[in-house]
Amino acid sequence: MSSDWSACPPHPQESLKDYVCRLRQQQNWTQAQLATAAGVHRQTIGKIEKGQTQRLNQRARNGLAFALSIPAEYLDALSQGKPITPVSSVKFCPQCWRPGQTPDPMWTDLRSHFCFACGTRLINQCAQCQQPILSLQFRFCPYCGKAYQSQATRST
Ligand SMILES: [Zn+2]
Ligand SMILES: [Zn+2]
Repeated sequence: MSSDWSACPPHPQESLKDYVCRLRQQQNWTQAQLATAAGVHRQTIGKIEKGQTQRLNQRARNGLAFALSIPAEYLDALSQGKPITPVSSVKFCPQCWRPGQTPDPMWTDLRSHFCFACGTRLINQCAQCQQPILSLQFRFCPYCGKAYQSQATRST
């Protein structure tokens, strides 16, 4: 299933509602299924897809990005009407993150370099092959198969 991992950027001129709707249909999900996967209220998804809301709160933003395997920056760009930054990756603590968990917003914050909980340096690329990590839907690097969790090597 290696073709599934790649982040799917919004089309030019695509709106937030069309983008979320398109990705949801790509997964063959109902709005309720997407809401569950993203950990948000079903009404939130309904509102987004009807174009009733352009603003996503942190929870919806991170949940949707995680559920749809896309960088949260894509959603930011659409909701704020900004251009898409092509390269983006997930940053997380390899010690505290558990597979299947949404990365903590405190890790993905641009200003964070170390884990707020344990002080480990945050990573955003595979320790083995240096490819950027675009989604934590997967437990392993799609390029080399290295597990993302606890991949930090203790250099002495
Ligand atoms: Zn940590
Ligand atoms: Zn790798």
